[in-house]
Amino acid sequence: MDPARQMCKHFRAMQTALIDSFNRRIEYLRISVTDRCELRCSYCIPKGFTGFEEPEHWLTFDEIERVVGAFTQLGVMRVRLTGGEPLSRGKLPDLAGRLVRIPGLRDLSLSTNGTRLRKLALPLRRAGVTRLNVSLDSLNPERFAEITGGGRLEQVLDGLMAAKEAGFDPVKINMVAMKGVNDGEIVDMVDFCIRYDFTLRLIETMPMGATGREATEHYLDLQEVKRTLQSRYELIPTVMTGGGPARYVRVGGTNLRIGFITPISQHFCATCNRVRLTVDGTIYTCLGQENNLELRPLLRAGVTDEGLKEAICLAISLKPERHEFTTRPDKIVRFMSVTGG
Ligand code: SF4
Repeated sequence: MDPARQMCKHFRAMQTALIDSFNRRIEYLRISVTDRCELRCSYCIPKGFTGFEEPEHWLTFDEIERVVGAFTQLGVMRVRLTGGEPLSRGKLPDLAGRLVRIPGLRDLSLSTNGTRLRKLALPLRRAGVTRLNVSLDSLNPERFAEITGGGRLEQVLDGLMAAKEAGFDPVKINMVAMKGVNDGEIVDMVDFCIRYDFTLRLIETMPMGATGREATEHYLDLQEVKRTLQSRYELIPTVMTGGGPARYVRVGGTNLRIGFITPISQHFCATCNRVRLTVDGTIYTCLGQENNLELRPLLRAGVTDEGLKEAICLAISLKPERHEFTTRPDKIVRFMSVTGG
């Protein structure tokens, strides 16, 4: 069946809610506004990599606003700005300010490596960004520099404090847990988050691209980590708003919530509610699959608003059931930085 007719077949049914063929409602869009970043985290962009998307292929702020408008008309309520490093794209608070004014958008959040937060936390807060996730894989300056390919820990710690000062709450810390790399620091990170009132999210490595596959050599099963933490802290199951895949516990006697993101040891595909848009306007319907649909050619060919929504519906109707990270770890060629986590 040709795409046009396929579009029509689904579009009528998805006027106000994007429901995929596994009956999952898609209400969360993650937008990678750039695939570039000044850091070179060991599980993401390889050192010396230069194959970044050409700026003329980047969606403009007008195009991003239009795409988000179409998604919200189809029931998407949450948008997260990611990258690469989203704050490396100029005037990002301006984009945030435009997106929060889109009817139907209830939550605009951002994931960052924190290196630019001292300067941009307040403008982002004032623009309407509600929640921040900051990557922090180590509290040891040497190990931090090693994992990030030369990053400065104090810059990110200062950025975290700036986020607090700007009024972001909660501020979530994303720690990619790696055996033999930073697993010895998980308890320190828990104590750090208790002390400074951050939320901690522990993330399992995923075979995204060559770097992701190398990182899975340090794969750490978070179920084991949870058991270890349970021997030290009282962990009470809890929930947090945000629409993400993390399963949360609260540490007894503290405000600390720890989220476990376990795509390998306990995947969450059955309740998946999200798709991703890359900097060049490609919808990836699953982080762990290559299924995608390019919107940029349509946008630059003058597609109507209805045509744009039909294209989005077609993409959703082709969303796969789940990832194949354990059965086909070689499948995904692109780096995590292309789609953002
Ligand atoms: S791997 Fe794919 S299906 Fe599974 S949760 Fe992630 S995006 Fe959803």
